[in-house]
Amino acid sequence: MSEKSTILVDLNDGCCRSCGGKLQIFHVDDCSLEVECVEEDCLDAYKVEPDAFADGGITYWPQAMVAFGQEAGE
Ligand SMILES: [Zn+2]
Repeated sequence: MSEKSTILVDLNDGCCRSCGGKLQIFHVDDCSLEVECVEEDCLDAYKVEPDAFADGGITYWPQAMVAFGQEAGE
């Protein structure tokens, strides 16, 4: 059983490339994060590098790997 969850990205760390809105991470793999804009008018979704955010790749990516990584690896 796997719960569908996402990780919200703080606006100080990164924002939607289209509208500047808040992003959530919904998928991860070894070399990328997939993010989606939470703004209803936008909902842009795209891949970014693990270090695309202001955290330098040490916060969101490992967190996402823990949250979503197992599923992808099985
Ligand atoms: Zn957006």
